[in-house]
Amino acid sequence: MFQSLSDRLSGIFDGLTGRGALSEDDVNKALREVRRALIEADVSLEVVRGFVEQVRDRAVGAEVTKSITPGQQVVKIVNDELVAVLGTEAVPLDLKSTPPVAVMMVGLQGAGKTTATGKIAKRLKEKQGKKVLLASLDTRRPAAMEQLKVLGDQVGVDTLEIIKGQSAVEIAKRAQKEAKLGGYDVLFLDTAGRTHIDEELMAETAEIKAATNPHEILLVADALTGQDAVNLARSFDERVAITGIMLTRIDGDGRGGAALSMRAVTGKPIKLLGTGEKLEDLEDFHPSRVADRILGMGDIVSLVEKAAETVSADEAAKMAKKMKKGVFDLDDLKNQLLQMKKMGGMGGLMGMMPGMGKMKKQLAGANLDEKVFDRQVAIIQSMTKKERATPALLNASRRKRVAAGSGTSVQEINKLIKQHRQMADMMKKMSKGKGGLAGALGGM
Ligand code: GDP
Repeated sequence: MFQSLSDRLSGIFDGLTGRGALSEDDVNKALREVRRALIEADVSLEVVRGFVEQVRDRAVGAEVTKSITPGQQVVKIVNDELVAVLGTEAVPLDLKSTPPVAVMMVGLQGAGKTTATGKIAKRLKEKQGKKVLLASLDTRRPAAMEQLKVLGDQVGVDTLEIIKGQSAVEIAKRAQKEAKLGGYDVLFLDTAGRTHIDEELMAETAEIKAATNPHEILLVADALTGQDAVNLARSFDERVAITGIMLTRIDGDGRGGAALSMRAVTGKPIKLLGTGEKLEDLEDFHPSRVADRILGMGDIVSLVEKAAETVSADEAAKMAKKMKKGVFDLDDLKNQLLQMKKMGGMGGLMGMMPGMGKMKKQLAGANLDEKVFDRQVAIIQSMTKKERATPALLNASRRKRVAAGSGTSVQEINKLIKQHRQMADMMKKMSKGKGGLAGALGGM
């Protein structure tokens, strides 16, 4: 699942993230490719359209801080929008109600409803110690009732006794009574499916809902069916107002479009994933993890998040202005040191950038750990305001005073001042780069 989409997207962004500046054309071209990749992955057209627009809007207004590239920023925006399309927060199955809590399973035949019922029942029993009752309402296929009984036995949870000749609604009511009498926590109502959506199926589903008022109505949909799964979700939701979705066959080589569209089209959360035929193959649906699986760029995303946390846009703008003028005093150095420390030091920062692993090892040898930052900040704090603005004032006696005040040595002060001079020289030489992503992108 998601493999080809993931390959396509990482191909697009690999070309983008390493670059210092992006033109409007670069971004438009990348967005066109993203659009095509999503459509080929079977994401519904309306969702693709909204998605690309959102990314474009945000890219134009975005600020880029010094520690990331515009391309990395675009990756982060695409990631955030993916997470938003997928639903932002993980929404678990809601069982907070007076027991027995009824969960109705709906969907087409073969989608994996009965298997899903067994999987969830097993988890509730083993992980949460719940007492679960399973009831098959499939009056059309006696084999389906047997199948649920076999599953129940396998998992070690009870199934409702099979009585021939009852209607689905009658069975559902009997199940509710039995669940109440037997002190069950959760009751699963496994409804009958059809090979396709038809009025009879919808009417029966609506009737069972009216008779039992289930707390959860979980639509089980086969992820491999792509667009059809989306239409299915829409139909079921319009008719019986589903409360959530479980996508099955995530382990198959489907293109992933269903996962990306269903939430957006119905507004109902995807709650669970079926990841195989075995009863253990059940996962919670986490939008951010799935987005990461699709983009495969978690490292860049967390790098940008850290940078955004630590460097406010104001600070960055102020710094950029000073740097353009070639001004970089010891107060600026102190701010830089504090920021680097917040970002986990140079080591942490480098480790997150692609291709920087080797450099990180060298830096580790250079002893750039947190304590060094702390000592350097302490040195600068022991200086007077004037000394910080004009480091040339720091003659031998002043350096001795600062060393004593900060609990360090004159050698360390010398080293820091040398380091500062090198950085200030470098800043002067640095070309006047464009400011912010908006500048880099122009008015797209
Ligand atoms: P129902 O008609 O909706 O109740 O569907 P079933 O539960 O009988 O499942 C139909 C087939 O799909 C069975 O062979 C299951 O083993 C298989 N199946 C269900 N869920 C998954 C899944 O997540 N991954 C895979 N690979 N197969 C699944």
